[in-house]
Amino acid sequence: MYDVLVLGSGIAGLTTALHAAARGMSVLVLTKGELSHSATRYAQGGVAAALEDPDSPDLHLADTLVAGAGLCDTDAVRVLVDEGPTRVRELAAVGAVFDTERADDGEAHLLLAREGGHSLARVVHAGGDRTGAEIERALVAALHRVDVEVREGWFALELLIERGRCTGVLALDPAGEPHYVRALDTVLATGGAGQCYAVTTNPTLSTGDGIALALRAGVACADLEFVQFHPTALHDPRMPRPLLSEALRGEGAVLRDDTGDPFMLREHALADLAPRDVVSRAVARRMRATATDHVWLDATMIDDFPRRFPTIWAACREAGLDPSHDWLPVAPAAHYMSGGVVADLKGATSLPRLWACGETACSGVHGANRLASNSLLDGLVFGARVVDAIAAGKTEAEPTGAMAGILDVAPEPRVVDDPVVLPKAEPADPAALRGAIQRVMTHDCGVERDAPGLRVASETLADLSALSGDLPPRQIPTYEAMNLARVARAIIANATAREESRGAHTRVDFPDPSDELLGRFVITADDEPRFVPLPEPALRRAAR
Ligand SMILES: Cc1cc2nc3c(=O)[nH]c(=O)nc-3n(C[C@H](O)[C@H](O)[C@H](O)COP(=O)(O)OP(=O)(O)OC[C@H]3O[C@@H](n4cnc5c(N)ncnc54)[C@H](O)[C@@H]3O)c2cc1C
Repeated sequence: MYDVLVLGSGIAGLTTALHAAARGMSVLVLTKGELSHSATRYAQGGVAAALEDPDSPDLHLADTLVAGAGLCDTDAVRVLVDEGPTRVRELAAVGAVFDTERADDGEAHLLLAREGGHSLARVVHAGGDRTGAEIERALVAALHRVDVEVREGWFALELLIERGRCTGVLALDPAGEPHYVRALDTVLATGGAGQCYAVTTNPTLSTGDGIALALRAGVACADLEFVQFHPTALHDPRMPRPLLSEALRGEGAVLRDDTGDPFMLREHALADLAPRDVVSRAVARRMRATATDHVWLDATMIDDFPRRFPTIWAACREAGLDPSHDWLPVAPAAHYMSGGVVADLKGATSLPRLWACGETACSGVHGANRLASNSLLDGLVFGARVVDAIAAGKTEAEPTGAMAGILDVAPEPRVVDDPVVLPKAEPADPAALRGAIQRVMTHDCGVERDAPGLRVASETLADLSALSGDLPPRQIPTYEAMNLARVARAIIANATAREESRGAHTRVDFPDPSDELLGRFVITADDEPRFVPLPEPALRRAAR
């Protein structure tokens, strides 16, 4: 029996583990791949934090609220922007080397980049565009210096629930044998669900496992309809799609359609630096209008491209493109899950002694649309908060942050005495199931949605979910495909219920935002979204 069981080894899981170890807790990190395998290590642009004048947490808060399109929880964002700078400095102290420049006074200063939706430069980065790789390296190295047990290649299958609280997980070991792994507190830090889509920047491990575990056990999840699509993934058959970071547009790169028209100038006052959802929709519309499957990113004006953006440079060169001379073909790709397992301001979920942080969680900081480079920060800030709360003896959620109003509608979590439907040993291909889910989600529940498409998606997913009983048992790809189906069904249910367009969720049949839908759709085991309005003060703020 461990004090803390951490599921996942990205920025959120490793931050949690390091903080817990620093407080003398016994910690087990259980992760389905190698320790360093995560979406974190793919992050390019950086970490947003108000580190120095003229920036301030208030400005960062204001930008985050604008991007979140009325659905951010302001208290959660306040926590993020106030505690963010300390956590970023802590990360540097742990060993992450961020890019700096030497100023006239001889001192090294952090180099700050500006990204879409940010009113000024506040994004710290490492190795140019290798920020996530550097953070993951530093956190893994730090973990090796402390007393934390790690199990690589272990897959969390189901939450264990006894006497109304989480007591650990049922997990498969690398040989496919199931084990009960018990802990006083369990932390879901299993990342996002971009693999629900055929075109995604997320690595193959981003299969929404933590969200699926929570959904099956009746733990409240919300905001799943808000899947952020990155507007500029390189149009190339590789999976995951190489991402052409927003930082390129921060340095002056311009989107053009097939005729060379810089169409974003007409779409938004911030043109190419408009929020991601605006840019993704504009690109999708432009692709339809010009009957093409991509538009172009003209980054030919960027000086010193290979040194400033080495990863992107290499990805382009691999595709036979020279960013200094060629326009780069780009299209929107599923990138970030703004919703997830609902967590209060301390990371507590609706199931006592189960916590969630990072992309798996719905902490309320992203609302209907994440502001660029706020997600690494989210993992850092809330990973540390979870440990503070556990150390303070907290065991249950309070109605704070995204949890406000939700405990009242969340059902009693179920005892999972019959863990995942164990598949029959018949030949069926988990990769084929994954592919089928990805195709229908991309086609019918993608950047733009409508009722007929969502109906098709829902029916197809019901048929596909029925196939899961035929998959080979005790293999990670099987359970990943089943989890993708589970999460995809919840995304579709929430997208169907939200009859408005807001943030990252665009309904062509309901093109405007609706004041009546200022709230979260909460979904649990029964696939029936329940609407929970934002609390009164937030509604008043949104109305202003
Ligand atoms: C290409 C790309 C670029 C990005 N750029 C930026 C950026 O510049 N700035 C920014 O803020 N954000 C960026 N993001 C988003 C950001 O990287 C992620 O949101 C963040 O890293 C998520 O961290 P996490 O710790 O929550 O999850 P992850 O880093 O995804 O880690 C999840 C961990 O859980 C493990 N796991 C999953 N399921 C199970 C299971 N069933 N059992 C056991 N272990 C499991 C995985 O193996 C993994 O170790 C980017 C994302 C991508 C894909």
